[in-house]
Amino acid sequence: MQQKDDNLKDIISHAKEYGFVFPSSEIYDGLAATYDYGQLGAELKNNIKSYWWKSMVQMHENIVGIDSAIFMHPSVWKASGHVDAFNDPLIDNKDSKKRYRADVLIEENIEKIRQKINKDVAKGLKRFGDDFDVEQFKATNPNVLRNQAKIDSIEDRMRTALNNEDLEGVYNLIIDLGIACPVSGTKNWTEVRQFNLMFSTELGSVSGDASKIYLRPETAQGIFVNFLNVQKTGRMKIPFGIAQIGKAFRNEIVARQFIFRMREFEQMEMQFFVRPGEEMKWYEYWKEQRMNWHKALGLGEKNYRLHDHIKLAHYANAAADIEFNFPMGFKELEGIHSRTDFDLKQHQELSGKKLQYFDTELNENYVPYVVETSVGLDRMFLSVLSSSFKNELLEDGKTRAVLSLPYALAPYKVAVMPLLKRDGLPEKAREVMNLLKFDMNCIYDEKDTAGKRYRRQDAIGTPFCVMIDHQTLEDETVTIRNRDTMKQDRVSIQELNTIIGEKVSFNSLFK
Ligand code: ATP
Repeated sequence: MQQKDDNLKDIISHAKEYGFVFPSSEIYDGLAATYDYGQLGAELKNNIKSYWWKSMVQMHENIVGIDSAIFMHPSVWKASGHVDAFNDPLIDNKDSKKRYRADVLIEENIEKIRQKINKDVAKGLKRFGDDFDVEQFKATNPNVLRNQAKIDSIEDRMRTALNNEDLEGVYNLIIDLGIACPVSGTKNWTEVRQFNLMFSTELGSVSGDASKIYLRPETAQGIFVNFLNVQKTGRMKIPFGIAQIGKAFRNEIVARQFIFRMREFEQMEMQFFVRPGEEMKWYEYWKEQRMNWHKALGLGEKNYRLHDHIKLAHYANAAADIEFNFPMGFKELEGIHSRTDFDLKQHQELSGKKLQYFDTELNENYVPYVVETSVGLDRMFLSVLSSSFKNELLEDGKTRAVLSLPYALAPYKVAVMPLLKRDGLPEKAREVMNLLKFDMNCIYDEKDTAGKRYRRQDAIGTPFCVMIDHQTLEDETVTIRNRDTMKQDRVSIQELNTIIGEKVSFNSLFK
């Protein structure tokens, strides 16, 4: 645990040092849980967006993308249930004055017990090696069984309490589990209260309830209210999807852990409209698709796991999270929700406008069911950054900081460098740069020794460095150095575009 937290600190300072992420309004000591993306962060973020957008919109004939406004009619949030039910249960520790999400405290307690089971399994594996049958061990070992029963019982109590809005029940569970505040170490808790997460502001110059509007807490509603606009103008046939990337705002109770939980963040959401009764098939389909999309990045298959929701949101009949092994442990990266016809029906009711689809095959009108995939762009950013960041020990005993980013996501694909700042090498390097820059983001670097320049590019994740030397002037060849192997090959300038282009293209991820 200690090691992982330290690791997060290293990542935060690396991200700042190299222009990926800065605390927002830093000259005024920052604003809690808000961050700015710097010159390299913006590039990485854009590349993650492209990976998502291309895989959703470009790769699926039946998915289109929109860009709806952040401000929406206040009735939207009444209809969606956010005004009445977008609450988190909060609890304060009276000694440290720290505020926590009550459900998160309980989840963390469960995770600790799960770790105990994992430890027992690891011990068995160490002792018996390949012959060890993990499933059988889990089904028979008394320690594991006892711990699993504990988890089941806690989850059961939490589910019942949260679903029944029984805040006293949540409080009692925290007390019964003996959960202490990580800061003060005491169990001196306030009661559990509900807290609405939406930010509100006023539209125009008139104040008062009539002009109160909200900053959207999810991008999904912009898709729902445009369902018919898109379906009609795009002549979309069910099943079809509408995708959107955009900002969302939540007044999070506990906003810590860097860009994992922010008050202003970005979501990449897709609502998939299906025939009523077919939603479970599509729910399973999208769970698998989305997991594959994550794994294709090559950040390590072990780093992902699926977690079924204990408490279903007010709109869902099934929900699961894709969790990622962040520096703080496994946490939600993406949610896949079967939202039923809840949202469209609600909007239909409140707006008085029909939001139905005429299915020509069935010869029938209906309100479609919806399966949603919703991934946080900033959490994607953190998953990519944290799993790519390494301090690598080299053969000569030195270390290098390297970001082994998936090539397609790297801010710069190639760094072009003249070996020396004279003999016509910079001019030649500029020529090479001009050849490449139409197809990929390049950076030119002529300062310091070659070794130092390579290290700089390693630290920002640039997959290739192209060095222009005296031989280049004679035979139009350059050396190309790979970030991960640190090997250099000599290739002709003419081949550069193809060699690098193929490796850094998104195609390699999609295939
Ligand atoms: P959590 O349980 O962590 O609060 P959630 O279940 O409320 O998340 P959803 O409403 O399912 O989250 O939102 C979809 C996605 O949006 C999440 O999987 C996450 O990646 C992202 N997200 C949600 N809240 C935040 C936040 N405060 N900061 C950054 N990303 C967020």
